[in-house]
Amino acid sequence: MRRFFGKVDNQIVKFSKASLDHIKVLRLNYLEQIEVCDDGNVYLCEVSNLKPFEVRIIEKKDSSLSRELTKNIILFCPLLKRDNFELVLQKATELGVKEIYPYISSRVIKRVTKEEFNLKIDRYNSILLNASEQSNRDFVPKLHELNSLENLAKLYPNCQNKYIAYEQEAILGNKITIIDSNENDYVVLFGPEGGFSLQEVEMFKTYNFKLVSLGKRILRAETACFYLLSVLAYLIE
Ligand code: SAM
Repeated sequence: MRRFFGKVDNQIVKFSKASLDHIKVLRLNYLEQIEVCDDGNVYLCEVSNLKPFEVRIIEKKDSSLSRELTKNIILFCPLLKRDNFELVLQKATELGVKEIYPYISSRVIKRVTKEEFNLKIDRYNSILLNASEQSNRDFVPKLHELNSLENLAKLYPNCQNKYIAYEQEAILGNKITIIDSNENDYVVLFGPEGGFSLQEVEMFKTYNFKLVSLGKRILRAETACFYLLSVLAYLIE
């Protein structure tokens, strides 16, 4: 069954323009059943009017059927060349991340200002929304503003589960192992096409990030991201 995100207020469902655009393309039928998701709550609905598009809530769905990961994965993601940043937004959503912090570091090749990044924020958020609908998520991941690596290193000071995928660790082979399974947050980052400088890695070490390998081969940045998130989701689930 198709899932869309909307706001439910007093049994009335309101959709964003992005969702309405998507719904229009899909050409839903009168009385067709869909799921509407609002802040983690899922409602079974039926299409009650086509123009304007309206739905009627049939019932609230059982939250035990949720497909969300039981832990929060927080991803620090470099800007990447070509469409790879957008690809990462889409795949990271499918793989269950809760929050994404985009960053610029010394070896990022695609360099933009915060203002230039913000001009694309609607496009990025609609990629996150569509991927969340497609993968039956209960939440759309939160995309934060563009940050420096130095600012990000200081976040989540008390979290024990913080991992940095480091290319120099490839041969040493330090694996991802969950340190504190009672904790809710897992913070992970991977590097841009140019990798990390030694100073950047040392900085993350001082903030208690563990260096981890993603196997012996050197992966492209986007592949490293999918590998890292897949392994983590597997360990959590
Ligand atoms: N320029 C670097 C080099 O020549 O070694 C490679 C950087 S790689 C394309 C981009 C990012 O993917 C790295 O910074 C790291 O986060 C991650 N990565 C790729 N392969 C990895 C591996 N085998 N183990 C850990 N991290 C890896």
